[in-house]
Amino acid sequence: MNKIHFVGAGPGDKELITLKGYKQLSEADVVIYAGSLVNKELLEYCKEGCEIHDSASMDLGEIIRVMKKGIDENKKVVRLQTGDFSIYGSIREQVEELHKLQIEYDCTPGVSSFLGAASALGVEYTVPEISQSVIITRAEGRTPVPPKESLQAFAQHQTSMVIFLSVQMIGKVVDQLTEGGYPEDTDIAVVYKATWKDEKIVKGTLKDIESKVKANDIQKTALIMVGKFLGSEYNNSKLYDKDFVHEYRL
Ligand code: SAH
Repeated sequence: MNKIHFVGAGPGDKELITLKGYKQLSEADVVIYAGSLVNKELLEYCKEGCEIHDSASMDLGEIIRVMKKGIDENKKVVRLQTGDFSIYGSIREQVEELHKLQIEYDCTPGVSSFLGAASALGVEYTVPEISQSVIITRAEGRTPVPPKESLQAFAQHQTSMVIFLSVQMIGKVVDQLTEGGYPEDTDIAVVYKATWKDEKIVKGTLKDIESKVKANDIQKTALIMVGKFLGSEYNNSKLYDKDFVHEYRL
């Protein structure tokens, strides 16, 4: 039986889809893509006559119906999701419905936007001895966040943090990070549409980032990155130390 193919589209640049994802897309008979965030240029990879659905205007039931119809008609169905579907991808609710219908699926990962944004800035989240962990999170909005995962709570770790889905609340984010213990002079960056042609990078500190983001009129499709990894402090890794055993080198 045919399967549904979930494919990560990457952060924006149409060349940042994996080779496997590209292949799936170019062979698809039906594509359901997240129109608000997936670069439409990726649809150029689809074959002629491919049936294309924008999921921005569809609810879960409609998405599943299109998937089921494609499977019933023995078509190759690709669900193209922004970045990688494992991060705020709403894949769980889709696959639970597919289980109910006994429809199988497979997944091809994509480059998440938090990786695209790090590339845009040319930075490492895990600078030796400065930060060895990355927290991926979001501010609470209409979607509740478990209380133990509040920005204040995470700020206590003072490690590298990437905040999704929250730039429209930049003032609140700054307040919560500060309440959690980040000093006002902590480096922070906002990357809008990382890897797209109209990408914008705004850098500042907790003190001035809100006004800079507002001056640049960034209200969506952006990541907030905060932590010492953005600053000037760094240490060399042991990995490339001349005395380090090279079999551990990456
Ligand atoms: N699955 C996606 C995230 C989907 S949630 C991923 O792996 O990237 C949607 C949020 O992701 C947006 O509100 C924004 O915070 C972020 N986002 C997605 N694409 C982005 C991009 N190219 N640049 C900056 N942020 C992006």
